[in-house]
Amino acid sequence: MSTRYDLHAHTTASDGTFSPRELVELAKKNGLSGVAVCDHDTTDGIEEALEAGTQYGIEIVPGVEINTEYEGKEVHVLGYYFDRSSTVLQDLFLQLREERLTRMDRILQKLRTAGIQISEKDVLAEAKGASVGRPHIARVLVRMGYASDIRDAFDRWIGKGRPGYVERFKLHPGQAVRLIREAGGVPVIAHPGLVGKDAIVEELIPEGLLGLEALHPDHSPEERKRFSQMAENLGLIATGGSDFHGAGAEHRGDLGSVYVDEHVVAQLKKRSLMF
Ligand SMILES: [Zn+2]
Ligand SMILES: [Zn+2]
Repeated sequence: MSTRYDLHAHTTASDGTFSPRELVELAKKNGLSGVAVCDHDTTDGIEEALEAGTQYGIEIVPGVEINTEYEGKEVHVLGYYFDRSSTVLQDLFLQLREERLTRMDRILQKLRTAGIQISEKDVLAEAKGASVGRPHIARVLVRMGYASDIRDAFDRWIGKGRPGYVERFKLHPGQAVRLIREAGGVPVIAHPGLVGKDAIVEELIPEGLLGLEALHPDHSPEERKRFSQMAENLGLIATGGSDFHGAGAEHRGDLGSVYVDEHVVAQLKKRSLMF
């Protein structure tokens, strides 16, 4: 029987709806050999997943997904098998989380100056525990009648140049790649098809990039083939995963719907300094 590893899944530690334990139970149910826990800017879900993994005989691949920005495009960088106690990474995660909250505070302050009263509590309730972003503020604006829809909320209030706009803290993908390497881990560019700029892959190689996520639910069969080929040509590890966010999540695949075999996991381990 071939081995199946889903190398991209989220839990309640970030914006997934399954707890780490529930994720592992589902991995078992779906016949996976292993699953990578890759929450946004946090490693908080990994410990619980490891415990459940031991119990259910599911191999846990410790990971993370870091949001960065490159020439105005959002770029996600996955990291695998890094030292979780690394202060360079944990300091970055803390900074990213705090930054989200202070940015929200500053947006709400600016909106108040513009005559709109929205409380932090309203926005946090809208985010339901996920990391807070502008879409949550937009939804509150719509609900309170300040905008007709999400787009209108951005155009009128919180988009660039509008009264409630606050510039975002920008992390360059190269920096995320370097920090993951510094922590002994393996940096992989997530769903490059969604970035829409292939040149970034080669640009990140000198920074220490070691892989690219060729298989992803949002990649067409052509893109899967193209990125697998690109990885081979550039000597990068071609990874894959479902980007599972939980039941009822509007997008992304079911857990295990996109997978790789044990050879890919072995390559990741080989490039990590943790073994
Ligand atoms: Zn992503
Ligand atoms: Zn993801």
